[in-house]
Amino acid sequence: MFWNRPLIIGSIVLLLFLTWLLRGPVEQKQLHRSQLMMGTIIEIVALGEDNEILEAGANAAFAEMARLDKLLSRHYADSDVSILSQSTSGTRVALETAEVIALGLDVAKQSAGAFDMTLGRLKALWGFTEENPSVPDQAVIAAALEGIGPRALSLDGLQVKKQSPPLMVDLGGIAKGYAVDRAIAILKEHGVTSGAVNAGGDMYLLGQKSQSPWRIGIQHPRKQGDVLATIEAQDKAVVTSGDYERFFEQDGQRYHHIFDPETGMPASGCQSVTVISDSVALGDALATALFVLGPQAGLELLAKYPRAEGLIVAADGTQHPSPGWVNYLVTP
Ligand code: ADP
Ligand code: MG
Repeated sequence: MFWNRPLIIGSIVLLLFLTWLLRGPVEQKQLHRSQLMMGTIIEIVALGEDNEILEAGANAAFAEMARLDKLLSRHYADSDVSILSQSTSGTRVALETAEVIALGLDVAKQSAGAFDMTLGRLKALWGFTEENPSVPDQAVIAAALEGIGPRALSLDGLQVKKQSPPLMVDLGGIAKGYAVDRAIAILKEHGVTSGAVNAGGDMYLLGQKSQSPWRIGIQHPRKQGDVLATIEAQDKAVVTSGDYERFFEQDGQRYHHIFDPETGMPASGCQSVTVISDSVALGDALATALFVLGPQAGLELLAKYPRAEGLIVAADGTQHPSPGWVNYLVTP
């Protein structure tokens, strides 16, 4: 007989295989959530086939960020940062707080103090979050800078030591980045393999989007809505710090919230800085440091971090990329 048993089974297997091959693409679901937190809008995008996984992942990631905010923000009286600021000589902190401070101290040292987590008093003085911020008096600024610097804080295990009692700690230049790193870790723990978390310019791009790296536009610091550069990346942190997000104007002069610890005034060397790195916490701290240092010293600092690249837009609008930046750039 022509149709023997193995042939029939073989045909069925072949048919099933062909049906599998020709199946339509499995439907990718996209979950998009945002929440106001840490003084900014936090956005989570998660892609995958199972909505429940995406939903559970995003919820847990938001919960983790809220938990970290309560440790790292000066807006909670019982946060590690508030307790540390009020203490005379220091305090024992949570593991997460110690991790943030350890990384911040390293960037503070490498940047010769351009990145500084002891600017709490100065920040309060400028009052960017208040109704009518204004430029403080020089003498008051000078007083707020007393005792600050990369050696003003030290860490021994979970014990943080302050060199002088009035020193106030501010982790605003690194905490959001750390929280995004943790949110990504939580998404991964929930089985999410593709997505993005963005906390007002502190971003991580997880996996791929539709079988390609993520493609994002970086905001032009002077032309609102225009793209300065388009980059492609996957499993990378992309952090942008600019003078155009949080600022006020007085007598035609723009005052923004990234301070030069040497003067206590807003740093004047840059319009914006973008850093691409493996961790958002590091990218966050580096972007702030580069902004203070300006293009030349900024690129020298970046060269100390072989896996980090960046683009600095100087105050005069000129663009200064690090050597490996071109590898992420999408040429039009
Ligand atoms: P954004 O919050 O817009 O992402 P940054 O990451 O650059 O911007 O952080 C700015 C914040 O960092 C300020 O609001 C302040 O809390 C803190 N900060 C300002 N100047 C410095 C500095 N020189 N070093 C460390 N942190 C700073
Ligand atoms: Mg920063």
